[in-house]
Amino acid sequence: MPAQRPSMDWPRIVKQLGESAVRPNLVDYERSCAEFTWDDARGALDGLPGGLGLNIAHEAVDRHASGPRAHHVALRCLGRHGEVRELTYSDLRDATNRFANALEALGVQAGERVFVLTGRLPELPIAVLGALKRGAVVCPLFSAFGPEPIRERLERGDGRVLVTTEVLYRRKVEPLRATLSQLDHVLLVGTGDTATSVPGTIDLATTLSAASPIYEIPATSPEAMALLHFTSGTTGAPKGAVHVHAAVIAHHATGRFALDLHPDDVYWCTADPGWVTGMSYGIISPLTHGVTSIVDEREFDARRWYQTLQDQRVTVWYTSPTAVRMLMKAGREVAKEFDLRALRFVASVGEPLNPEAVAWGAEVLGLPIHDNWWQTETGGIMISNYAAVDIKPGSMGRPLPGVEAAILRRDEKGRVVVRDGEAEESAPGEEGELALRPGWPSMFRGYLHDDERYRACFQAGWYLSGDLASRDADGYFWFVGRGDDMIKSAGHLIGPFEVESALMEHPAVAEAGVIGKPDPVAGEIVKAFVVLRPGNDATDELRLELIGFGRKRLGAAIAPKEIAFADDLPKTRSGKIMRRLLRARELGLPEGDLSTLEVTQ
Ligand code: ATP
Ligand code: MG
Repeated sequence: MPAQRPSMDWPRIVKQLGESAVRPNLVDYERSCAEFTWDDARGALDGLPGGLGLNIAHEAVDRHASGPRAHHVALRCLGRHGEVRELTYSDLRDATNRFANALEALGVQAGERVFVLTGRLPELPIAVLGALKRGAVVCPLFSAFGPEPIRERLERGDGRVLVTTEVLYRRKVEPLRATLSQLDHVLLVGTGDTATSVPGTIDLATTLSAASPIYEIPATSPEAMALLHFTSGTTGAPKGAVHVHAAVIAHHATGRFALDLHPDDVYWCTADPGWVTGMSYGIISPLTHGVTSIVDEREFDARRWYQTLQDQRVTVWYTSPTAVRMLMKAGREVAKEFDLRALRFVASVGEPLNPEAVAWGAEVLGLPIHDNWWQTETGGIMISNYAAVDIKPGSMGRPLPGVEAAILRRDEKGRVVVRDGEAEESAPGEEGELALRPGWPSMFRGYLHDDERYRACFQAGWYLSGDLASRDADGYFWFVGRGDDMIKSAGHLIGPFEVESALMEHPAVAEAGVIGKPDPVAGEIVKAFVVLRPGNDATDELRLELIGFGRKRLGAAIAPKEIAFADDLPKTRSGKIMRRLLRARELGLPEGDLSTLEVTQ
């Protein structure tokens, strides 16, 4: 197990920087956990005036807009051509009120579904939060989806309203509009100053300016459905996870502890808005803290990203291991051209974060990267590393205050092993399934149209995540792999992450994806697909060297027996390596649901 590395020695930092240093929200992990209750976390929010319940949009927008933060910038939107648009909390309240009024005028009722299909534009949070004010249910889609995944989700989710751009509409929705019988209204974000006049659609800008900026959020039950998120589809067809307004309690509390958000932060979440991270931590959580959130319309570019961190003086940055690996691939010289000293906290989610990447962050960004773990189903961060708590590189960290996590075992029939009426937890270091005790507010309340599948996630009083992990004696959790990606080779159960991380320690390797390939003797053998860093040639010599390197690091039983070089690895739009696709292609099997596959330009 790698040695402990302190991520932030708080007393030392105060000594160096004086009291102006930002004091982390969580300094003493054990104490924060012991003192935490979800009731207190609910108490940190306002609730709707007059005791009318709890609405996400009120907590994210209105409570700041009616207080001293009204004129604080909520969103700083960086456009495709370098243009900047700022919205204060008060601007955002008015715009979202207008959107809610527009929905009301269209006859949209509480519980009806509003889908959003746009890139990172200011209209997106306006539509999301405006729809939540109205009591409608929001479902975001990846703007890179083709027509079929859009049609399929709109139909499955009973989409009544769609907010999209003129370009996306013409390309992806118009051709199949006739088949979408439930879709009554399409609101279009135009391309310029003039109103769009696409038949069968409504121009959003015109509608918003005609609507009143005053809106009273109706009574909202904390258990009212608020969000519908389709999972990433990494392991199979995406499932529709249902979330309720009470989720905002977890969005706020986890933003405080896991992202260390403070009101004066400039925060940047790079997640695609079609993915749950783009919602929970791209829109809701930062706004509940009253921070300034950067919304960057453009896609990844190493130099421009560093430039954005520098110019916007980003203090808290939430990104993904894939993005970190792409920055690593671009080389550390690029980073040296920029002043990144405003940054004080960096976190990542979505995939295992290789220890190599944590160390790279410490060296190049001047800060280690804090891995955290969660899923569409959990709605918010569940396991995390914290600003003022030791990091063990390669570990996902420890459960958030208020979250109880365990490693459980299943028998051959898939039943959780129970002793004396209680699920039996694995011993430290032993691998098993990562499980959570139900009851946190952002827990999904169902899979859309799939009750059976939802119920199957719960056993013996636990939610079973489908991920394999272990917990060490200090309570840190270590990701092993998704249940579906595990490799069984000659009696060993091998998680791809361990093999991928070892390969990434080789200087020629930028990225690796590892699968099990059927073998008559071993059952499966480990095969790795390797993307090289620029300047390395895909030679047989290098292949042999990597096989030897793997054996030295991992031992013969776990090391890859086969290595293939690839220009790229297939990934989801949320940046996850699709090992099931690597495997299907290797074996000539059907490729399955590819709706979330990122198509590289
Ligand atoms: P599907 O369920 O449709 O196959 P998915 O599980 O990839 O897709 P998401 O809910 O977006 O959909 O992703 C959650 C999963 O991502 C987790 O279950 C886990 O496998 C992986 N993951 C997220 N964060 C981490 C992390 N820090 N370390 C390792 N894996 C992570
Ligand atoms: Mg999943």
